[in-house]
Amino acid sequence: MESRDNSGMISFNIPPYIGDEDASVLEAIHSQKISGDGQFTKRCQQWIESTLGAKKALLTTSCSDALELSALLIDVQPGDEIIMPAYTFVSTANAFALRGGVPVFVDIDPCTMNLDAGLIEAAITDRTKAIVPVHYAGVSCDMRMILSLAQKYNLKVIEDAAQGVTSYYEQQALGTFGNFGCFSFHETKNYSMGEGGAILIQNEEDIDRAEIIREKGTNRSQFWRGMVDKYTWVSVGSSFLPSELNAAYLLPQLIKSEMIRNDRLRSWATYAEILQPLADEGFIELPFIPDECSHNGHMFYIKAKDLDERTRLIRFLKENGVESVFHYIPLHTSPAGKSLGRFHGEDRFTTRESERILRLPMYFRLAQSDIEKACDMIGSFYHGMA
Ligand SMILES: *Cc1c(COP(=O)(O)O)cnc(C)c1O
Repeated sequence: MESRDNSGMISFNIPPYIGDEDASVLEAIHSQKISGDGQFTKRCQQWIESTLGAKKALLTTSCSDALELSALLIDVQPGDEIIMPAYTFVSTANAFALRGGVPVFVDIDPCTMNLDAGLIEAAITDRTKAIVPVHYAGVSCDMRMILSLAQKYNLKVIEDAAQGVTSYYEQQALGTFGNFGCFSFHETKNYSMGEGGAILIQNEEDIDRAEIIREKGTNRSQFWRGMVDKYTWVSVGSSFLPSELNAAYLLPQLIKSEMIRNDRLRSWATYAEILQPLADEGFIELPFIPDECSHNGHMFYIKAKDLDERTRLIRFLKENGVESVFHYIPLHTSPAGKSLGRFHGEDRFTTRESERILRLPMYFRLAQSDIEKACDMIGSFYHGMA
């Protein structure tokens, strides 16, 4: 795998590829079962269940679809309110807005960029149905507080753990805390099947319903297991199951997840070590990882002083062969977010911090020398400014 494209640029992302995928996909092709729910899908699901400790995992066509499936499972009705951060990907909000739900955005904690759990309680009304923590950069939200609020007010919890596959909070895997956890296996995530995801389910009574909704509202899964004698339409549903070809690409990466995770964590630590002096000098801020969190090296970001400085830094890095990118435009400032949702309380940090964040190249097998080059350039930018 080349880490440079033709322009000599150090890419921000290269999809994960370990070399075992070719044989695995070929095996799927020759198995004469290329639609969903074959052996590869089952093995991916079993891996998630046994390694991460989920009661049940079902592969889906994306994390967006896992979130939509969750919205169907909690039976969102028009006007139901769903508490989430505004600093997130559009799918977090879309999944619920598609069912008439109202995203209620609360501010983030600037230390982690995760929703500030201390602000949730004030946003709860008698229309509130669920809390959706988004584990930004694979670093867990304050799940202790979120779960206790959910219990107190009888709310559902749906984790958007798109970035948090093989991340942990107090030694428990992200995605296994809420009623439902949603993973992404998009090519920009740590483990990939091109496009894909998974829903993790903790309660026995939700499993049958999830299988039915994911199979177009039919009881086909139960039929295959011999639990019912005919397969028929039993509820609303959709087609959320991915093809075996995609699952076959993912499986070897799950099996070697430790190797991928360790490699990314090594890159993450290298960035943190080289950039620490610039942070000590007060030029930039580095990510903060709370003690109870063990992350997966999904992302390495720095924070510039403000939007203007970040814009100049991105341009400077680009001119010097390093691709860096900003991230979410807060949803409450977007046209759809304004009409479909509302922000509860004051936006102290969401907009301001979103304007400062800059993500550096991060992918499996990112070369040490490329990290050093990116850091050198950041150093030149700040020291040249002085
Ligand atoms: C990537 C991502 C998604 C969407 O994942 P897809 O698999 O592309 O649908 C949703 N939420 C967050 C926080 C993400 O990072």
